[in-house]
Amino acid sequence: MSFSSDIKDEVCRLQNEKPCCRFAELAGILRTGLIIREIRKKNLLLFITEHAPVSRMVYSRVKEIVPDGVEISGEKTTRFKRHVVYRLNFSGIEDLDEGNKFLNSIGININLQQQKIEYFEFKLQDRCCIRAYLRGGFLAVGSVSNPDKSYHIEMAFTNSKISGEFIKYMECYDLKPKLIQRKNYDIVYMKEGQDIVDFLNIINAHNALLEMENIRILKDMRNQVNRLVNCETANLEKTVNASLKQVSYIKYLDDTVGIENLPVNLREIARLRMENPEASLSELGKMLNPKLSKSGVNHRMRRLQKLATDLMDKEK
Ligand SMILES: [Zn+2]
Repeated sequence: MSFSSDIKDEVCRLQNEKPCCRFAELAGILRTGLIIREIRKKNLLLFITEHAPVSRMVYSRVKEIVPDGVEISGEKTTRFKRHVVYRLNFSGIEDLDEGNKFLNSIGININLQQQKIEYFEFKLQDRCCIRAYLRGGFLAVGSVSNPDKSYHIEMAFTNSKISGEFIKYMECYDLKPKLIQRKNYDIVYMKEGQDIVDFLNIINAHNALLEMENIRILKDMRNQVNRLVNCETANLEKTVNASLKQVSYIKYLDDTVGIENLPVNLREIARLRMENPEASLSELGKMLNPKLSKSGVNHRMRRLQKLATDLMDKEK
């Protein structure tokens, strides 16, 4: 299953919400998700989702308020992969007294003939309700990419008044979403891992939040390991370059005065270096008996180098 549908599963299971928040959540779903579509020459007021728990939740919550206001049907589509799309049909709800009252209460007026949904301002007083409203909007028109691949959350709105309202409510929680137009949609999106974590926190998707944080930690560790490997490769290269230089001096000394004629401490280190060109100075130091520190080995290498360069100078 996708990360998006995991999040939706989780927040659909949330319970013990206050009535004010339940209502704000439903308003969030319907204000962002209702559309009018012509099907067989009839204009229908619909809410369409691929997510079964979302469809059940909207269906049962509307039923509580307007018992005859909604019908549900599932359709198999083959457009992408074979999957089911759930269609909630609200057509006729505007003709019912309690239906009309309900639509007004969430700031919506329907004109089916003109295929128009009119939106009035919908004010949310309490912060608890703003969270619920954002959650509703996400359930209806939101998606998050799999954090293994990339960090991206977006909500796709058909109405610019509603996208503006949604951004305003996100900003109440210090989120800074961006807006672009794609086809006939207003896309409100964020691309930072931290923004997505913050949003998941606001909509109470705490399991998804933890999963996301785990993935972020793993990704960070992987990057760190890569950086270390790069660093070690660079160090190894430095060691090898230095060693090649040392080997060339020692060879020169061997050809001119002979290694066996060097003072005993220099002779030892010169031999070890010739036999272990890939070893670092501290590794060479550990091969000596008694052991010698890195700086001790470095000191002897410098003496070897000086001997060699002095000889070269004399030969000039
Ligand atoms: Zn509330």
